Amino acid sequence: MTTNHELFERARLKLPGGVNSPVRAFKSVGGEPFFTARADGPYLWDVEGKRYIDYVGSWGPMIVGHNHPHVRAAVARAIDDGLSFGTPCPAEVTMAETVTRLVPSLEMVRMVNSGTEATMAAIRLARGFTGRNKIVKFEGCYHGHGDAFLVKAGSGALTFGVPTSPGVPAGLADLTLTLPYNDLAAAERLFEEAGSDIAGLIIEPVAGNMNCILPREGYLKALRDLCTRHGALLIFDEVMTGFRVALGGAQQHYGITPDLSTFGKIIGGGMPVGAYGGRRDVMSQIAPSGPIYQAGTLSGNPVAMAAGLAMLELIQAPGFYADIARRTNTLSDGFATIAAECGVPMTTNAICGMFGLFFTSEKVETFAQATACDTALFNRFFHGMLERGVYLAPSAFEAGFLSSAHDDAVIAQTLDTARDALRAALKG
Ligand code: PMP
Repeated sequence: MTTNHELFERARLKLPGGVNSPVRAFKSVGGEPFFTARADGPYLWDVEGKRYIDYVGSWGPMIVGHNHPHVRAAVARAIDDGLSFGTPCPAEVTMAETVTRLVPSLEMVRMVNSGTEATMAAIRLARGFTGRNKIVKFEGCYHGHGDAFLVKAGSGALTFGVPTSPGVPAGLADLTLTLPYNDLAAAERLFEEAGSDIAGLIIEPVAGNMNCILPREGYLKALRDLCTRHGALLIFDEVMTGFRVALGGAQQHYGITPDLSTFGKIIGGGMPVGAYGGRRDVMSQIAPSGPIYQAGTLSGNPVAMAAGLAMLELIQAPGFYADIARRTNTLSDGFATIAAECGVPMTTNAICGMFGLFFTSEKVETFAQATACDTALFNRFFHGMLERGVYLAPSAFEAGFLSSAHDDAVIAQTLDTARDALRAALKG
């Protein structure tokens, strides 16, 4: 039998850090990653046959659990007809009709292959449409690895302490203005000073790349108003929140209409898919109907569209989100109760299908608070959970995800494990 360790040794010789995406390497929490052999429902099995309850869900796509038979069957049917055509195909049209129906702010949409592509295209479009160059983003938010976004970025960039990456030219980074999340006064000041240069403001409406931080009451609405007043486009990056916190994403949950939105993860059902869309007058500027260029050899791929459409069918089941929301609260309240029993300061944030644990006594609403938490204790807790068969995101700066396959029994088992793991972490 190949072991996790042997695979990691081999991987490290040929892949930078042994991985194809940084946070997977466990650098933040220490130790070595496991290699997944297969996945089903709420579980992963590593190559050594150990089973884990999975709260990463492929970093978001797996909202119906892993390897769902309905998605798998749709992919199998699509494969019978061929893998890629390079011409328009019917599934792309159905996909466009479906997402524009589920997310009403999308009057038009363009399919791409990842969240990164979606956000890069969205800011090019915002710049092209407004004729302005500056982009506003938030400290600790992550929008993929496009140059313009690797300025005070979250997720892996934050985890590894390189929030602004070498290789991003200073001249380009200067066009990205950053703001503290949930600080309205700072946003008002920035727009007062630079509003007429700002093409767009991009935000994770629920921040999931600096752990899980919810917007303060009225904050998103105030940003909407600021953008409108200054002629900047409001871009919701719903790569994580889209089809997760509600069927219509965070924009539905909070009742805000952005000008543009970006999607990824769930929309592809586990295949590499992203999308961006929004106002018809803005989207019409994209080639070939307009002059702003964006393209993709595999965009709208028939197999990926089939997986995504099958996923979008499943999440429209009555009660789907209410169930996940209830279980997310049970889990996050359960963590907090266990911490209190153990006498450890911990607060939690949660919204349907997403949660965050913070080893601190404060309610966490800002990037500064998130980064001030006890990450050493989180790392010990993470490893305690992993040893006992529960896989949390391998960094204190990533949100956790639930799926509809995480039923009450799985949640109860997770909480029992958490009690043991936390006690052990406190001794260590
Ligand atoms: N935006 C957000 C909010 C994300 O969470 C991510 C990935 N975690 C991205 C963009 C980038 O997506 P991808 O990894 O598919 O390029």
